[in-house]
Amino acid sequence: MSTKRKKAPKQIVLDGVGVSSGIAVGEAHLMETGIGQVSEYLVGEDAIESEVARFQLALVKAHKQLDKLKLKTRGLPETAAEELTLLLDAHGAMLGSSRMTRGVERQIRERGINAEAAVQGVVREIAQGFAAVKDAYLAARVQEVRDIGSRILRHLTDTPFQAFSMLRPGTVLIADELSPADTVLMDPERVSAFVTVLGGAESHTAIMARSMGLPAVLGAPGLLGKARAGQTVIVDGDAGRIVLDPSEETLAEYKRKAEARRRLGRQLARLRSLPAATRDGGRAVLQANIEMPRDVEAANRAGAEGVGLLRTEFLFMNREELPNEEEQYALLRGIVEGMEGRPVTIRTLDVGGEKLIAALGDVIVEGANPALGLRAIRLSLKEPGLLETQLAAILRAGAHGPIRILLPMISSASQVRQVRKILKRVWTRLKRRKARMVAEMPPLGAMIEVPAAALTADALARECDFFAIGTNDLIQYALAIDRGDEQVAHLYNPLHPAVLRLMQDTVGAAQRAGIPTSICGEMAGNPRFAPLLLGMGVRELSMTSHSIPRVKQRVRALDLGAATRRAQAILDQADEGRISALLDDFNEGL
Ligand code: PEP
Ligand code: MG
Repeated sequence: MSTKRKKAPKQIVLDGVGVSSGIAVGEAHLMETGIGQVSEYLVGEDAIESEVARFQLALVKAHKQLDKLKLKTRGLPETAAEELTLLLDAHGAMLGSSRMTRGVERQIRERGINAEAAVQGVVREIAQGFAAVKDAYLAARVQEVRDIGSRILRHLTDTPFQAFSMLRPGTVLIADELSPADTVLMDPERVSAFVTVLGGAESHTAIMARSMGLPAVLGAPGLLGKARAGQTVIVDGDAGRIVLDPSEETLAEYKRKAEARRRLGRQLARLRSLPAATRDGGRAVLQANIEMPRDVEAANRAGAEGVGLLRTEFLFMNREELPNEEEQYALLRGIVEGMEGRPVTIRTLDVGGEKLIAALGDVIVEGANPALGLRAIRLSLKEPGLLETQLAAILRAGAHGPIRILLPMISSASQVRQVRKILKRVWTRLKRRKARMVAEMPPLGAMIEVPAAALTADALARECDFFAIGTNDLIQYALAIDRGDEQVAHLYNPLHPAVLRLMQDTVGAAQRAGIPTSICGEMAGNPRFAPLLLGMGVRELSMTSHSIPRVKQRVRALDLGAATRRAQAILDQADEGRISALLDDFNEGL
């Protein structure tokens, strides 16, 4: 026994930000990073030629993209256009029969590996070779080689991540960073948890983990230096802890913890059909945030009273072409029907920032500050064709159940007025087409997630039928904290008095105008905040389905009158610590 122990690797405990609760034990799979996130795998003898063809297709697509980019240089000053064209031509030449493309094909054929890994390997080899020669001209080309490699990889990985579908059930994914688009592709049947070096608690990658019920720890520094493919890993999403090569004692301890969680889950499941009613007869409505059609089942299982936020941008990810009206309609219809008469709040495209859509690569040119750039409603109003198609699909889906339309990142009332105009135009066009659609114009609401919107909520309330407070972005923009950056995650505080004041102003403006306010940021899904939010006058909370039972349990335990008094006391405070203490004290008394 003791000799056996000596041989076993010593367990390593790492801490990060626990962003999605739950415990998983599985086998580590390391995702290669560098240019994009690429895993290497064998494609199998008989699939080698089709793998080469897949690579060649990516080259064709990259070529087309370069041609489009060249067209875009036309609007630029002459010298800039000339320089860019030269650069794009050089990239184009590399996409032809070059050392790189020949090298990749050879790698696929000789080593039988996937195209992504071959591209990554060849790019690395060429870059290292260039770097070894002390020549300024060659040094400058290293970046070009990397850029073209990334371009090819982006086209290759537009198709679902091959490696994800090849994983063994129970795998724990380990990566430098995962994008929201990567996360969409994870199959919970195969991926049991994931951990990354980068990423914060409110990033969309974190939100997706919660939505899929996958335990996840992000922002774990030093992880990649220590993890090995194939080793056993424990992911504790509650404590934000990762254990590599756990000892037998640790494994046994986590087995007990996992069993206790399962018991708790069974208890909470009994709340499913009970209302979210407070002890003194107050009533909250708990709805689900969903991203994909597959999430409808979890929403129903959790007893969601509707969908308070459908993030439609996830329907647009990981594909080469944007879905047309018909396809969007089919997807939305499936979701609306799946909710069986309970309302579905459909948010128009909120792309940009960290949520990137390959098919919109030509429209969104990423600026220095993507979170402040051309995104969400700004993009929809700049590309009205995109918005009109989406609105048409939404109005048609409304024929199958109650819907509401929600606009992301609204910062002024005029944006809502513009959308209303477009909405009416789309409505008239559908009528003329005699398309089957919603009987009456659905409610149109604004996300209150930019401080400017909260500060002008009275004016906005006159244009809107409802408000949905997006606390994730509201906190990000009010406190100037990047929600996805683990380095400033400790400053991201939903209880900052500035945030609470913006929320209070919003709820007050909505009450004066007689329109409802919901909260659909992550704050709504944390039971700790339920007394404060209800006490502020909010009655609709929308959250990831997995959070509904725990929030319902808290709502049912509290007295609305007492919560209202405590919320008032909290809102009078200017000190974050005092606010936390007042809230925690209230929760402890429940
Ligand atoms: C928010 O910002 O709070 C929100 C709900 O939207 P998202 O998380 O998609 O930005
Ligand atoms: Mg937002």
